[in-house]
Amino acid sequence: MLRLPEFQVHQPATLEDAVRLHTTLPDARYLAGGTDLLPNLKHELDRPQHLIALGGVSGLVGVEEIDGGALRVGALTPLQDVADSAIVRARVPALAEAAGLVAGPQHRRMGTLGGNVMLDTRCLYYNQTFEWRTALGFCLKRDGDWCHVIDSPKRCVAAQSSDTVPVLVAVDAVVEFMTAEGPHALPVGELYQQDGRVDRMHNVPPGALLTAVRVPNLPDGLRSTYRKVRTRDAVDFPQLAIAITAALDPADGRTIRSLCVVIGAMLPKPKRFDLRAFVGRPLDDATIEAIAQEIHARTAPQTNLHGDPEWRRHMARVETTRGLRALRDA
Ligand SMILES: Cc1cc2nc3c(=O)[nH]c(=O)nc-3n(C[C@H](O)[C@H](O)[C@H](O)COP(=O)(O)OP(=O)(O)OC[C@H]3O[C@@H](n4cnc5c(N)ncnc54)[C@H](O)[C@@H]3O)c2cc1C
Ligand code: SF4
Repeated sequence: MLRLPEFQVHQPATLEDAVRLHTTLPDARYLAGGTDLLPNLKHELDRPQHLIALGGVSGLVGVEEIDGGALRVGALTPLQDVADSAIVRARVPALAEAAGLVAGPQHRRMGTLGGNVMLDTRCLYYNQTFEWRTALGFCLKRDGDWCHVIDSPKRCVAAQSSDTVPVLVAVDAVVEFMTAEGPHALPVGELYQQDGRVDRMHNVPPGALLTAVRVPNLPDGLRSTYRKVRTRDAVDFPQLAIAITAALDPADGRTIRSLCVVIGAMLPKPKRFDLRAFVGRPLDDATIEAIAQEIHARTAPQTNLHGDPEWRRHMARVETTRGLRALRDA
């Protein structure tokens, strides 16, 4: 049986106290729902002496409409609340779909949107017991100096594996943080780095506390969907996560005005595809086939997650086709 190691839990009541506490305890980790952090501690993937529990910090829960159509979701909002939110379902259906596909019902009640955005990267050679990793000789992500996936000491290509993030990237969401220097905001697409190591994967200073996710006012008629590739339709992380948004010309209901595909669960940074060449074309079967072919050609899954990389690449084409057809027929 895997046991939790010993650590001290701190329970600040305000945002400022939480961030200040982190500056005095640099090895501390923030604890939100704990659905990822605690299993990882059991696997000894991390060994913090202190956890800063965010549950008592006020003002971090809820979905609100701001600026006449934009959305602001507090970082501690449970994923199930995001999935059930009438405003989210109306404005960004793909975000509700993605939140509703994370893990299982208990995880979604405890797990938060903030924890999903700040999720540790995952890899077959890393998400293992301490004994397993000892036998391997560890790896570059922690305690070792070699990446077994790319067979190089250069960088860690563990996958950013959260369901909601590709959708947030596709709709140009902004993430708001509180840091020791004050509030800080950046586009969610810029939060992730090309290196999946713990101290390098996020482009924010150590101790930055995610406070909210802001989704801008989206253009009228923007359609969105989320497709999750996994072996079983059960409690499983994505093996590929595909978010698609498209706006069609209201005059004819078929000409593409904007198009975005983002693939997650592939590398440390979600991949956003440049599909401007398809704008102006009708979203018919031929165009859908061409877009799916383009995604397939530019997708390169690694051996970092379960599932043969060629199968995952093939599924990128299949799910892009299904997603685009669903948007066209919506
Ligand atoms: C069996 C199982 C299956 C799972 N399947 C999926 C899945 O299919 N898809 C998926 O996306 N996830 C999955 N997860 C992971 C997890 O349940 C979710 O990602 C969840 O959203 C994590 O949120 P949390 O609040 O529990 O985060 P925690 O576990 O509390 O934290 C996760 C990380 O984020 C940091 N963090 C949390 N909140 C903040 C904040 N506000 N500011 C700064 N840092 C913060 C923590 O320090 C920690 O490093 C699974 C987990 C398990 C155990
Ligand atoms: S991608 Fe490489 S360095 Fe990163 S966790 Fe996997 S084996 Fe380790």
